[in-house]
Amino acid sequence: PGTQLPSDPSKKTIVVLGSGWGATSLLKTIDTTEYNLVIISPKNYFLFTPLLPSVAVGTLSPRSILQPTRYLARHKSRQVSVIEAEAKSVDPFTKTVTFEDDSEIKGNTSQTTIPYDYLVYAVGAEVQTFGIPGVQDKACFMKELADAEELQRRFKDCIETAAFPGQQESEIDRLLHVVVVGGGPTGIEVSGEIHDFLEDDLKSWYPELAGRVRISLVEALPSVLPMFSKQLIEYTESTFKESKIDVLTKTMVKEVKDNSVVLQMPDKTIKEFPCGMVVWAGGNKGRKITQDLMAQFPSVQTNRRGITVDHHLRMVGAESIFAIGDCTSTSYAPTAQVASQQGAYLGRVFAQLAKKDNFEKKLIELQQAVPVASESEQANIASEVESVQNQLAKVKLRPFHYSHQGSLAYIGSDKAIADLPFANGNIATGGVMTFLFWRSAYISTLFSLRNRVLVANDWLITKIFGRDLSRD
Ligand code: FAD
Ligand code: NAD
Repeated sequence: PGTQLPSDPSKKTIVVLGSGWGATSLLKTIDTTEYNLVIISPKNYFLFTPLLPSVAVGTLSPRSILQPTRYLARHKSRQVSVIEAEAKSVDPFTKTVTFEDDSEIKGNTSQTTIPYDYLVYAVGAEVQTFGIPGVQDKACFMKELADAEELQRRFKDCIETAAFPGQQESEIDRLLHVVVVGGGPTGIEVSGEIHDFLEDDLKSWYPELAGRVRISLVEALPSVLPMFSKQLIEYTESTFKESKIDVLTKTMVKEVKDNSVVLQMPDKTIKEFPCGMVVWAGGNKGRKITQDLMAQFPSVQTNRRGITVDHHLRMVGAESIFAIGDCTSTSYAPTAQVASQQGAYLGRVFAQLAKKDNFEKKLIELQQAVPVASESEQANIASEVESVQNQLAKVKLRPFHYSHQGSLAYIGSDKAIADLPFANGNIATGGVMTFLFWRSAYISTLFSLRNRVLVANDWLITKIFGRDLSRD
């Protein structure tokens, strides 16, 4: 009863966990004529994360950077099942996945287990809080769409509360102090976007308050953006200085309280700073389901950063599981660029595996035909066997090779930074032209024409009318 999963018994079943960068790139690339394909994810859409910080301040509307997974699935040559559910456990020995409908509305059936021949494990990562008190329940994150919407709601609430008649001066200063934690690209981009909101919109609508908004960026390491070249780090720090964003390096967040943040300063003293909100961009950690899966291979899956894979992205210890993206620990940074190249690579791997399976099936058929064949037929079969064996030998799985296209980040004030590989070297550039390059690079990377039109339209609307200040 109900929705049937694609289940052609002559084809192998690939179950994909996730609908993010890795999974979506695989879905785009894979030839479904050869497989039964099932996609399971608690989000029935793909989220274009590079533009998420723009949603947090209303430069873009949330819908513009989402792509429903079914839109991509329906263009495949055979039925692809998209299931909105969260995978709860993977049994790599019986080759099954158990998943559950975790949404608000549930039917009588909300949990089930299905078998797979291959599992593509692409569940990403969650936010690393290091167990620091108050982070999980008091700070805003910048990982999911709901985080960006929540940040926008809270920031606007801080402003409206500061504008409440008779609000005390010290309370206004507290409410208008935003602390961003993490000087990685996420923290930098969020700080830049909040600054733009302040400059472009708050100054006109709340002139009495705008000058009092303070943004502090807290980073434990000696500098922000360690993955960018030195000159771009300096450029970002000087742009932030001009934008009056305080960059506190060698400073660690020790606790997030309701109305303040506790910091360990470079001289190791502990100070408490009143603030209206804390945005936490402290990095990634593996999801519980990933830790549980790894724990089933205690001798080979020991890297705390994530799943160890071989050169073909197979999980070490579990041949039938391919793991890609942020849930893995490889020599590459956990980026969309890596995850999408890995997804596309797996599309090609599955095409090769299908070829291999078809040749092997053909060989079995030929071998079964031998006992009932006449002598002359046997000679034909022997030459056909030889030809199939030759073709089979040519099916090679090449190892995954990552091709770095460069690093880009938006730093606010219509400026971006870019480290781009060029010839055997690197070009490091920052400024308004790089910002235009950043915009064109991301708009062309969006997966559909629909998203490109929506994003371009939002940029235009924001330029002409400013951002929407209403709070929902
Ligand atoms: P994700 O894209 O996170 O996808 C994981 C998927 O798994 C999601 O669909 C999720 O719903 C699903 N899932 C979660 N749990 C389960 C479960 N139990 N069962 C089934 N499915 C599950 N990288 C860049 O290269 N360039 C950038 O400019 C850039 N900007 C970024 C900006 C922000 C704000 C953030 C947060 C990240 C940015 N990144 C960028 C990093 C990039 O987004 C990640 O590296 C990328 O998303 C990793 O892809 P993934 O497929 O591994 O995971
Ligand atoms: P990150 O791991 O790059 O940075 C997190 C930062 O938080 C670190 O520098 C860490 O030192 C700091 N931190 C952690 N705990 C702290 C504490 N208690 N106090 C002070 N500082 C603390 O995380 P991210 O910025 O979310 O990026 C995650 C991944 O996504 C990276 O691979 C990044 O390259 C990628 N990404 C790329 C882009 C882009 O290319 N534009 C944008 C966003 C994210």
